Amino acid sequence: TPPARRYQRVLLKLSGEVFGGGKIGVAPEVVRGIASQIADAVRDGVEVAIVIGGGNFFRGAQLQEQGMDRTRADYMGMLGTVMNCLALQDFLEKAGVDTRVQTAITMGQVAEPYIPRRAIRHLEKGRVVIFGAGAGMPFFSTDTVSAQRALEIGADAVLMSKSGVDGVYDSDPRTNPDARKLDSVTYDDALRHDLKVVDAAAFSLCKDNDLPMVVFGMEGEGNITRGLRGEAIGTLVHP
Ligand code: UDP
Repeated sequence: TPPARRYQRVLLKLSGEVFGGGKIGVAPEVVRGIASQIADAVRDGVEVAIVIGGGNFFRGAQLQEQGMDRTRADYMGMLGTVMNCLALQDFLEKAGVDTRVQTAITMGQVAEPYIPRRAIRHLEKGRVVIFGAGAGMPFFSTDTVSAQRALEIGADAVLMSKSGVDGVYDSDPRTNPDARKLDSVTYDDALRHDLKVVDAAAFSLCKDNDLPMVVFGMEGEGNITRGLRGEAIGTLVHP
């Protein structure tokens, strides 16, 4: 049976694409809306750590297709995520929430370095911790990093928000009109059916370490707050 959705501490993954409002760069009004939803949950007492993607700036694999060296392109991708972190930090602070950004590539003038035990202290004090620069390593995705960070800081769940899809389906909803959204699914089934909403490395890290994941769409009104509060939205993926 799926575990209850009751969270003291969560790791929220936000897609970078959404931050750009469909374009390259940052759309401040979009980020403001996301920040205010997160602030609502923080005021309820949920400890929130965040990983943000960088798809609104660069994706390493795409730059590689256009002729760039993959590892250098991946570093560009990681640097892009940091700009999203700073934008979210700004709007969270404006919403009255204390924040710290920690990056996996050190840049002391801009953010703290990633220090897991320090991140945990920030969370205990009610600060939101935003993790930037992915894992600091090429060939990783921010989905995988979300699972890793969640495990290292002792989060109760990973909340994977997605844009354009509101959960895990039993087949691809873009090609199969009869695809059904699942309320819950085991990691084994999600991996077996190759349901690609979340990358397989993230699924298997969570599976091996008994960490539940909620996959949900960030577009609906208040969805991020609802996810953080443990309401039954999206799909619960569990061991
Ligand atoms: N990236 C990386 N290592 C990491 C995390 C990210 O190399 O640990 C790079 C990779 O090139 C990726 C880009 O950063 O394409 C942006 O991250 P991602 O594609 O996961 O962002 P999202 O799709 O969630 O916006």
